[in-house]
Amino acid sequence: MENGLLYLLVVAAIGCGWWLGRRERKDSRPTSGPQYYAGLNYLLSEEPDRAVTRFIEDLGVNQDTIETHLALGSLLRRRGEVEKAVIVHQNILAHGTLEDAVIGNVQLELARDYLLAGLLDRAEELLLILAPRQDKIARQSLALLVELYEREKEWYKAIAVSEKLASGDDGASYDRAISHYYCELAQASLAARQIEPAREALRDAIGHDAKNARTSLLLGKLELQQGRFPEAVKALQRIKDQNPVYVPESLPDLIKASEQGGAAAEQVQQYLRACLAQTPSISIVLTLASSIRQASGDEAMAKFIANHLKRNPTIRGLTQLIDLHIDNTSGVAKQNLAILRSFAEALVADKPAYRCHECGFDGKKLHWHCPVCKSWGTIHAIFGLEGE
Ligand SMILES: [Zn+2]
Repeated sequence: MENGLLYLLVVAAIGCGWWLGRRERKDSRPTSGPQYYAGLNYLLSEEPDRAVTRFIEDLGVNQDTIETHLALGSLLRRRGEVEKAVIVHQNILAHGTLEDAVIGNVQLELARDYLLAGLLDRAEELLLILAPRQDKIARQSLALLVELYEREKEWYKAIAVSEKLASGDDGASYDRAISHYYCELAQASLAARQIEPAREALRDAIGHDAKNARTSLLLGKLELQQGRFPEAVKALQRIKDQNPVYVPESLPDLIKASEQGGAAAEQVQQYLRACLAQTPSISIVLTLASSIRQASGDEAMAKFIANHLKRNPTIRGLTQLIDLHIDNTSGVAKQNLAILRSFAEALVADKPAYRCHECGFDGKKLHWHCPVCKSWGTIHAIFGLEGE
């Protein structure tokens, strides 16, 4: 159905273009009409390959028909027929005597085709030619270059191009992205145990976006790896003020650094209570509960979880509460609790844990770069009954 509609649109667009082209050259190209109908026949007899070729051959490239060619090219690309879109755009460049701005636009479209087709070298070559221009095409080509370098994980190149874009109206989003490019570099250095380059990259990451909680998560890991436990705790506790939705991600490292560094349990509890006041997260509740258990025992822990669940019910919290009671019961009551537990587990088993607040993408794990809308730092844990 969708294909049929798209082809009808092509027919309409080509028809208009053909009429315009015919009006201009009706004396010199008397065969345009029959060729157009031949193209239409191919289209209706579901031979779109031949139809596209015929239309391109028939429809001259000039100021009147350029929009039709461009519409056809972009339609084909949107349908995923990238090879045909490339042919349409290359045909314009080969045959048209057009204004410089129009040529720039067609080259930009061709670069988009190459990007979609995964021909990254060809796309880069074209975009680097367009980037020094003094018009809006330059900015569009820089934005496409960023997309290309992100795909190639060429973070230094992505930084260099994004810095040119960061001065524009949408500069904040480029600064946020640059901060994440430095985080990517820091993460790679950290994995290779190159501590100084990792520290340096993290300093640059914070410089571009002080609110990027990922910088603190990575710095916490770095300090932990170096055995500098109080520094790790300090770095991780910055997340509460940067972006508290990421506090749940920091808890395993925070607890490790606090315990190994001999931090006072009260200080950690105080921090977690402050986080909880900002963000009602079950991970924070369970971490606090475990700390309460160490100090005051099982009953105090169960009471704390139950109190929180009254205000912010979550299935994960309920499961934990069942676990606490299951050991102290026996017989039918124990069996019933076990059934209830497996029921609660099944309810959340296939539910996504993370969501992008930019495009709504759901996933099981945390992506810093949204795989759908390509935004940076827009995915975090889902809060509520079935989530955090
Ligand atoms: Zn997204």
